[in-house]
Amino acid sequence: PDSFLSVRDLKVRFSTEDGIVKAVDGLSFDVERGRTLGIVGESGSGKSVTNLTILGLHNPRTSTVDGEIVLDGKELVTATEKELERLRGNKMAMIFQDPLTALSPYYTVGRQLSEPFMKHTGASKKEARDRAVHMLEKVGIPQPRTRFDDYPHQFSGGMRQRAMIAMALMCDPDLLIADEPTTALDVTVQAQILDLLKDLQQEFGSAIIFITHDLGVISTMADDLLVMYAGRAVERGSVKEVLRTPKHPYTWGLLSSMPRLDGDINEELTPIPGSPPSLLNPPSGCPFHPRCAFTGEVPGSRCTDVRPPLADGRASACHLSAEQKQTIFIDKIQPR
Ligand code: SF4
Ligand code: MG
Repeated sequence: PDSFLSVRDLKVRFSTEDGIVKAVDGLSFDVERGRTLGIVGESGSGKSVTNLTILGLHNPRTSTVDGEIVLDGKELVTATEKELERLRGNKMAMIFQDPLTALSPYYTVGRQLSEPFMKHTGASKKEARDRAVHMLEKVGIPQPRTRFDDYPHQFSGGMRQRAMIAMALMCDPDLLIADEPTTALDVTVQAQILDLLKDLQQEFGSAIIFITHDLGVISTMADDLLVMYAGRAVERGSVKEVLRTPKHPYTWGLLSSMPRLDGDINEELTPIPGSPPSLLNPPSGCPFHPRCAFTGEVPGSRCTDVRPPLADGRASACHLSAEQKQTIFIDKIQPR
């Protein structure tokens, strides 16, 4: 199938003083136009690295990238820096957690919106200014004509986040990558920004990758969900399927370590025991096996020595069937 963004067997490695870090280790997924793919996982699971690699913003001197990233028919892993720069202006854009990583303190917000637009589209100064004012208005910045000439420090945190979204949308990107875009904001502003992103997607039909550790946010924002662990995808499906009937023990852990969406306060928070694995020396077999309650419970299940594959479509990378896990859960885990 020719999806808009297709990532196949992506591997990103960093050389460090201590050795090679396998930050992303054989990751495949697709994103369609007009849809939002949520990516969740603890920090260090490879979510941010994956997306910086798609944008071509990884450091080529310290990292190696293998596999395929195809955006609208164009292969990105082998693209030149110049081609990537053009694509970042026209086809893909990123919204960061901290707007100050995208906005320079030294230039007015308006200039930072309009100059790249002129460069990428050949628009005149007047056209670029009109477009920037229009986008500032779109993202809900009051008096956009006046605010055009303000510097980022003259904006509140929420307004800066909006300005960065306006900047990302200037060139009408087909792929928008949002990495924890609202984590730093208070709940009310967060809700406004999320609503805004949804409206803009409806209007522009972009494909969105939404990275977060917040499953509550994911459930309102994403259509599809990819759960990452140790640089790999361990579960995928529609958001509804994964959140309602999670299959992978790691996803179970993630879901039970957050407050229940239905507000069931009887449920105790049960954080996943242990910590994320070292990517310098990843565990053999299933990367989750050192933390998994099912490891070693089924004789011959190979959790510790064979890496479980992730099938296409609705799938989870686990050697045990749902029935096996159910039985073990009832017999051994639940009574504890
Ligand atoms: Fe747990 Fe084994 Fe499944 Fe990995 S493969 S999640 S260790 S049961
Ligand atoms: Mg991150």
